[in-house]
Amino acid sequence: MSESIQNLHTEAADLDASARHHADATAGQQSAPASQAAVDSAFAPLGLSADLLRAITEAGYDQPTPVQARAIPAVIDGQDLMVCSQTGSGKTAAFLLPAIERMQRAARPGAARGPRLLVLSPTRELATQITKAAEQFVRPFKRIRVVSILGGMPYRVQNAMLAKPYEILVATPGRLIDQLERGRIDLSGVEMLVLDEADRMLDMGFIEPVEAIAAATPTTRQTLLFSATLEGRVAGLARNLLRDPQRIEISTPQTRHDNIAQHIIRADDMAHKNKLMRHILLQPDVTQAVVFLATKRDCNRIAQELGDEGFSVAAMHGDMEQRSRNWTLNQLRQGRVQVLVATDVAARGIDVPGLSHVINYDLPRAAEDYVHRIGRTGRAGARGTAISFAGPSDGVVIKRIERYIDRKVESLIIPGLESRRPLRDGPGDRPGGRKPGFGQKRHGAPGGGRGGFGGGGGRSGGDGRGFGGGRSDGRSAGGRGGESRSGEGRGKTYR
Ligand code: AMP
Repeated sequence: MSESIQNLHTEAADLDASARHHADATAGQQSAPASQAAVDSAFAPLGLSADLLRAITEAGYDQPTPVQARAIPAVIDGQDLMVCSQTGSGKTAAFLLPAIERMQRAARPGAARGPRLLVLSPTRELATQITKAAEQFVRPFKRIRVVSILGGMPYRVQNAMLAKPYEILVATPGRLIDQLERGRIDLSGVEMLVLDEADRMLDMGFIEPVEAIAAATPTTRQTLLFSATLEGRVAGLARNLLRDPQRIEISTPQTRHDNIAQHIIRADDMAHKNKLMRHILLQPDVTQAVVFLATKRDCNRIAQELGDEGFSVAAMHGDMEQRSRNWTLNQLRQGRVQVLVATDVAARGIDVPGLSHVINYDLPRAAEDYVHRIGRTGRAGARGTAISFAGPSDGVVIKRIERYIDRKVESLIIPGLESRRPLRDGPGDRPGGRKPGFGQKRHGAPGGGRGGFGGGGGRSGGDGRGFGGGRSDGRSAGGRGGESRSGEGRGKTYR
């Protein structure tokens, strides 16, 4: 188990004392082997049944994360919750596990046919992730079926899924509204409504659909809101939809992304960014990377160029069909794609353990998106690296990001690929100089071949294969040969 997950778990152990009475309360209802499972699992004190504890063990979770330790008992108790938690904190299980627990403790009341648990997610990727987690956790319960309703899915397929009884519905707001209006979904039996990444849903303009969907559910429902921030418009939404909510705010090494090394590299223009990007992608510790760009066009272009050079690369953005997005994600998960070139549509919901690096080729406009983007690496306590290219006019954006994450991001220089232009509106940066604000660090011995970031970047040649294609220089797609092109000393990179 990684150090940072262990830290989380130590904190979790302190947090769960209040939950112990749940274990006492449920122990009497369990059979002998079930009681044994409950005793063995660190999740047992949270009040989850033996079947769920087994499913948790099968998922590979040893210890509850802090958000799980706090939220699970409160949800089982029937509390409304406002939870401030970042992606990667284990928030999905924090609502799914107690929701399933409640569902299997009490049979469906009344005759309604629709979902008992409704989870709203801003993006299809996140919804797919939640659906997969739900399917894994309900495996022991034959009568609990999970359905997801996402934009981009053929109606015929969706209608067939909705025709059979189901208990859990995971949906993006737009398509759900659509199906509600067509009379295909009955939300009158919803016992629990979860708004996941509520801040993002508001950012994406889903306020009206979310409120309309909530209005179609019973007022007696339990409501859980998860968000990266609980202030501003999110607080307004919570006032309208939640009843006397308990606030849970957890700041942990993981939610602060302490397990992710963050760097800024000054870049003069696109040509410079291209060189930097190639240089980084060729580093031996880059197992898989996501490169974030601002526009779909650049995304397609860069993916094409990298593919032509022999990288195993895929593009992902909002213009792509859901089917091809899913396919790409699977390729990434299976290690067949080494580099995903994406717009912010991919910033949430991608949970690929092998992603070692995030490269912000373009900085995100919102500081929050920065946090979500970099959270694609360092999943489940692993270590990760996030490198952001800062153009000459990006000083203000960097300041905003640093304010938001409440820390300075260290600036790096790659010998041979230094910036020649000043950073405007930055914290006092001057060309070629190091400034209060960014601690600049030189990596690799100057002129020392491929030491660290040292040396030139580009590759030439390549057999032009994109997706899953082989590499002309003998490096396998998705894998790391660990060789620099020149084969010279590599030295320390940027960990
Ligand atoms: P989430 O924040 O829900 O997106 O979860 C981030 C990642 O952490 C997912 O890959 C989960 O499967 C994993 N995870 C969640 N809870 C735990 C836990 N208690 N122990 C280990 N991994 C976990």
